Amino acid sequence: MTEQDVSEYRKSLATRVSGFDVPRPVKTFEDCGFSVEMMKAISGQAYEKTTSIQCQAFPIVLSGRDIIGIAKTGSGKTAAFVLPMIVHIMDQPELEKEEGPIGVICAPTRELAHQIYLEAKKFSKSNGIRVSAVYGGMSKLEQFKELKAGCEIVVATPGRLIDLLKMKALTMSRATYLVLDEADRMFDLGFEPQIRSIVGLIMPDRQTLLFILFVLT
Ligand code: AMP
Repeated sequence: MTEQDVSEYRKSLATRVSGFDVPRPVKTFEDCGFSVEMMKAISGQAYEKTTSIQCQAFPIVLSGRDIIGIAKTGSGKTAAFVLPMIVHIMDQPELEKEEGPIGVICAPTRELAHQIYLEAKKFSKSNGIRVSAVYGGMSKLEQFKELKAGCEIVVATPGRLIDLLKMKALTMSRATYLVLDEADRMFDLGFEPQIRSIVGLIMPDRQTLLFILFVLT
């Protein structure tokens, strides 16, 4: 695509971008270079076309860049960070005992954390990736045991994640992919101190993705 094509294509996606040397948007899942297993999982979910946020977010995140994504509920934003996270994990050495997770997703509410967990499960199973969800209102002991058994992806509300870190149910020594979903809401709900301490535990060479919900008022 020429620069002109790219700009018209972005317009047709109703997407605006800013930043240095932003990668060009893709048009299809085939453009993303996903593995055969991943493509099978995608077609198994009957996802035919990449959504607008995915067209632009996939090439950015798959190239290892950080991103601030702004999208509406129902825009496919969860898959926009979950699919590249699976690619990222598959590129890392396997977890040893007592290591993990590699991907950490923080969300403001347990409902959202559970939704993200379900979306991640759709694509992780066929790749042998384990996903755990940890949030308040559920047994801490059960969550402790599940994390101790090992997992590549943790989806968590910030308070519960801190509690489990203090209990040494998991470590951040291998975490290299961090997603803050509905980050604006987490800050509105007063989770900033917890977010800061979680971010402080993760290696600075991590990839960081921050998603903000776009609401039409
Ligand atoms: P989200 O905006 O992440 O809450 O996603 C909304 C819904 O769209 C979820 O049920 C996803 O499973 C689904 N979804 C995500 N990406 C696609 C896609 N490319 N094609 C069809 N459905 C999708």
